[in-house]
Amino acid sequence: MPEPFAHVRLPSRIVLGPGALDQVPEEVDLLGIGKVLLIATSSVREAADLLQIALGDRFAGRIDGVKQHVPVERAEAAREKAREVGAAAIIAIGGGSAIGLAKAIALTSGLPIIAVPTTYAGSEMTPVWGQTSDRDKTTGTDLAVLPKTVVYDPLLSRKLPIATTAASVANAIAHCVEATWTNKADPITDITAVEGVRALKEGLTAAIKDPQDLDARSNLLYGASLAGSALASAGTGIHHKLCHLLGGTYNLPHAETHAAVLPQVTRHKATGRAKQDLEKTLGTDDLATGLFDLFDQAHVPTSLKALGLTEDQAQDAAKKFAAAHREEDPQVITDILLAAWAGTRPTNEGTAR
Ligand code: NAD
Repeated sequence: MPEPFAHVRLPSRIVLGPGALDQVPEEVDLLGIGKVLLIATSSVREAADLLQIALGDRFAGRIDGVKQHVPVERAEAAREKAREVGAAAIIAIGGGSAIGLAKAIALTSGLPIIAVPTTYAGSEMTPVWGQTSDRDKTTGTDLAVLPKTVVYDPLLSRKLPIATTAASVANAIAHCVEATWTNKADPITDITAVEGVRALKEGLTAAIKDPQDLDARSNLLYGASLAGSALASAGTGIHHKLCHLLGGTYNLPHAETHAAVLPQVTRHKATGRAKQDLEKTLGTDDLATGLFDLFDQAHVPTSLKALGLTEDQAQDAAKKFAAAHREEDPQVITDILLAAWAGTRPTNEGTAR
């Protein structure tokens, strides 16, 4: 019997399948919305061109090229563009950065979003928005930014380079793992997280062998969707907060930062039945080590040093985080960040290899 709990399910429609991009105009009609602003990551420009043509007179305007962590100036320019073209909705095609920019518009205008994710960041399933100003990342939660419809087309993500794929999968796995220890974790988020990790691991292993493997790409999008929804319900904890600080302050790449930090946080935070279930799913007897090895074998950088952070910056980040989060033990924060900086392989004993 589960312990008593409360769980909130978020309303969104999900369409997944090869060629699902072709369904986007129908999805626009289904929502009964008028003209749309298209936001596209530059790497999926061709698919965005096709979508623009298919939208016909539903198309109002387009923003090409996005930046990670939604710089405030980009958010303001995008809001202005939405007003200028009279957009009644936004379609974002690309990774978390494209979806993040759409969320910035939705936050102030309430315009509905249709998301077509091409990475595994999972942002499309969450009501969480983020914006960066002067190296300071602000995040918040607002149902207005939760995409109404999410269209997953594995044909699009086949072009995602394998290094970006692996890092993005690590980001999705981080959503799942952290979802098991936040104070809003419950049996539904646990089972979602475990199934998410299963699909992500299976998909990653197959995509490394053959990046064009459609089943692998479908599995990865399915896993990313579960990861995003686990994160949306369980909320963020120490891991995501640390990564937001690092990403916002030192402009580190989002997905790779998650990969370097997760095993070290897991070493300190993972406990109980969900930890055991995740270990079984990953085929490891220690979750932190298993995660580190999974990322390492997929050639995802496992240290912040490799991402360009200096040891002094890691120390500073620990001080900054501890000052803002008095509930956390400062020594644990320093241990996590220095181990993540060095890329130390966690072990059962908590010592380096
Ligand atoms: P991203 O959107 O910047 O994409 C990573 C890289 O992949 C980019 O260079 C992009 O051009 C390329 N790319 C994307 N799709 C491609 C494709 N199909 N083929 C080839 N290349 C492709 O990065 P991301 O990791 O997807 O997202 C990171 C951003 O999302 C961060 O700003 C992060 O804060 C945010 N995020 C938010 C949430 C949330 O719930 N709000 C969750 C996860 C991530």
